[in-house]
Amino acid sequence: MNDHQPRNLSLPTPGCFADPDRSGLTATDVFDGMTEHLFYTLGKLAPSASRHDLYMALSYAVRDRLMTRYLAGIEAIAANPKRIVAYLSAEFLIGPQLGNNLLMLGIQEEAAEALKQFGINDIEEILDVEEEPGLGNGGLGRLAACFLESLATLEIPATGYGIRYEFGIFDQLIRDGWQVEITDKWLKAGWPWEIPHPDQACFVGFGGHTESYRDHQGAYRVRWIPAEHAIGVPHDVPVLGYRVNTCDRLRLWRADATESFDFYAFNSGDYYGAVEEKVGSETLCKVLYPNDGTAKGRQLRLKQQHFFVSCSLQDMIRSLDARGIPIQEFPDHWAVQLNDTHPSIAVAELMRLLLDDKHLEWEAAWAITTACLSYTNHTLLPEALEKWGLDLFGSLLPRHLELIFEINRRFLQQVRLRHPGNEGVLRRLSIIDETGEKAVRMAHLATIASHHVNGVAALHSDLVKQELFPEFANHWPDKFTNVTNGVTPRRWLALANPQLSALLNETIGDGWVRNLEELRQLERYADDGGFLENWGATKLSVKRHLTHYIHRHTGVLVDPASMFDVQVKRIHEYKRQHLNALQVIAQYLRIKNGLADGQAPRTVIFGGKAAPGYAMAKLIIRFINGIADVVNADPDMDGRLRVIFLADYNVKLGERVYPSADLSEQISTAGLEASGTGNMKFMMNGALTIGTLDGANVEIREEVGDDNFFLFGRTTEGIARLREEGYRPWDHIDASPELRETLNLIEYGHFSNGDTELFRPLLENLIGHDPFFVLADFKAYLEAQEAVSKAWNDRPLWNRMSLLNTARSGKFSSDRSIRDYAERIWRAETFPVTITCQIDEAQVKGRQLPAPQ
Ligand SMILES: *Cc1c(COP(=O)(O)O)cnc(C)c1O
Repeated sequence: MNDHQPRNLSLPTPGCFADPDRSGLTATDVFDGMTEHLFYTLGKLAPSASRHDLYMALSYAVRDRLMTRYLAGIEAIAANPKRIVAYLSAEFLIGPQLGNNLLMLGIQEEAAEALKQFGINDIEEILDVEEEPGLGNGGLGRLAACFLESLATLEIPATGYGIRYEFGIFDQLIRDGWQVEITDKWLKAGWPWEIPHPDQACFVGFGGHTESYRDHQGAYRVRWIPAEHAIGVPHDVPVLGYRVNTCDRLRLWRADATESFDFYAFNSGDYYGAVEEKVGSETLCKVLYPNDGTAKGRQLRLKQQHFFVSCSLQDMIRSLDARGIPIQEFPDHWAVQLNDTHPSIAVAELMRLLLDDKHLEWEAAWAITTACLSYTNHTLLPEALEKWGLDLFGSLLPRHLELIFEINRRFLQQVRLRHPGNEGVLRRLSIIDETGEKAVRMAHLATIASHHVNGVAALHSDLVKQELFPEFANHWPDKFTNVTNGVTPRRWLALANPQLSALLNETIGDGWVRNLEELRQLERYADDGGFLENWGATKLSVKRHLTHYIHRHTGVLVDPASMFDVQVKRIHEYKRQHLNALQVIAQYLRIKNGLADGQAPRTVIFGGKAAPGYAMAKLIIRFINGIADVVNADPDMDGRLRVIFLADYNVKLGERVYPSADLSEQISTAGLEASGTGNMKFMMNGALTIGTLDGANVEIREEVGDDNFFLFGRTTEGIARLREEGYRPWDHIDASPELRETLNLIEYGHFSNGDTELFRPLLENLIGHDPFFVLADFKAYLEAQEAVSKAWNDRPLWNRMSLLNTARSGKFSSDRSIRDYAERIWRAETFPVTITCQIDEAQVKGRQLPAPQ
């Protein structure tokens, strides 16, 4: 053999692929696609490919298979116009993409097969390589992601519009029990799921001044002369629906400087000055804002909001222009949903585009604006309701401030006619808050301009009407409505919990994946002892996975047969992780004091990030870790109690945790959790809930029945009454020796190596004014936990309740939420896409993709 003869390096032979249009879904097609991408895209030969290379190659091969569908959808919409949903959200917490897209296409097994050819026997090794884009803080961003997926699955044309932050939510490490924040570099190794479209860039202005002029017809016009500009470059992420050809898109805007260099400054020798503007514009999308309600860096946040909203609205108008559709028909083609007030500058920006660019008259522009906008309220917490001081607002967006004054003037005129002489109503409804420093109230702006305003769970929507906006609700009774949140059963059940999914498929078929109500058929097995045992055994096998993860990441061995009692969510006082922590101490004390007869063995699992500027939340993390150290080191606790804090809670970790939970902790102060969506993910996966009557817990309990839900605590009215009467935390300490003993132990430094200072701020907060009524609900919570223990000890009963939780979770599919929005708010319809593929027509023709084997 000649030394110079090339060895067989498993090179692809160009031109010989069986699947040149890259739409085939067999294992061979996937293998060919991977080989091709390794060679041409990544510049690697198969034998030297790392796991990351294989992840990239598989991702590109899968992305190819989305493209036919993605482009077919865009073509189809252009030819046959239907209303498109524009979901505007400052956050999209989309999670890992590869595994999800394999599920959507129905090629999980084919991909696993292809990977075997590269020597990878467990596909998890490759899926685990993916870094998720943390483009959101928590529930609100995750909701936007679930909604986009449901829109695609229901075959409704939609675009999610958002921001391509360079650094998403920080990565969390735990060092000596404290949270440490590390920048999230999700782009560092390349992220294969986005496609930039620099040719579709948009200009966005900031600052400057306005001037009036007369146009050539003599009409009075205003133009805005911004002081600076940024360019928004769209980066599109395809969002494929489940086993359909509809592939919607997430369009994320990245800010670029208008010119890489200011040539004048450059020529005059000011090199650094010349790049300065570039640096300024590019910081625009650098980082996601934490949701800690602090005022720091707010100017940049308002800039981010205007930036992505302006790009998005320009993009929508451009799509009409390109199709020759008159601007008056904007609302027939776009239904624009504002996810919280973050995109609510859209009201003024759309008015500006219609008046100043399209030269419409005020009434026509206002009719268009109000016909296409709707707004979702997500919070009643006053610190989270966005307000911008007039100085800041006017200096950044002078034209928008003028328009807001005019919108307000006209609106207050209407109010005045209804309530003559009632200055109080005017003050309370005005967009401009004049109580302190004058400020623009974004929730008022959004409410006035939207045809619908919705809360996110029945209780929350009632509170929006009664507490937040009573006078608006009185003014426009039909404007306010409810759409209870939901989560996608594809990611949160089919993908996250393959073991339970397999059992469901065997038992009731796989129709539940598209129609979650079909889970009701499980109720037939609620009294089938053999099936219940199987149900419990499946849960146990799922828990073993998390057991390994916990051991790998914390070094603690937990017993998978113990009750996994889980609270994962952002750390916030209103969510009351500290109530759970106090309960753990009380259980610890009972064991120590020999009073724990009948107490179920538990592994109490916490996870969640605290906003970097939220000192109390960070102290709560330290507190939980202090308790964990003491409990896990005490031999008396062996087999009875373990406490785990899982670092860096995100979507990927959520996919491991929700399926493994036996008990879901939803213990917020009543009236403060708008909906919650974690509660729904737990329920679908067969966890029982211990919870307050708050947010969607109310509806969860209604669906599952009060026998299958552990309710405790004061109601919203009860909390309001306590507040009015003057709440005294001490009364509860005096009335409960157990609470007193619990607090004493903390005070003596038992969970801080004798340090009596460390947790003092937490104790003082609880004993002093306890703003979230932790001590008021402590006793009822402990009693409910006793009921939980009792139920756990009767395993057939527990398994029955677990099964009923899954069986009755159908309402909480985001498909139901999206149908609700589509019918009642957007008036958007399904629009199935048919693919005809020139090269291999037989395989991809028609709507139905091959089902998974
Ligand atoms: C579902 C989810 C949330 C929301 O959880 P809640 O319990 O509703 O607060 C937050 N973060 C992530 C990563 C999630 O998946």
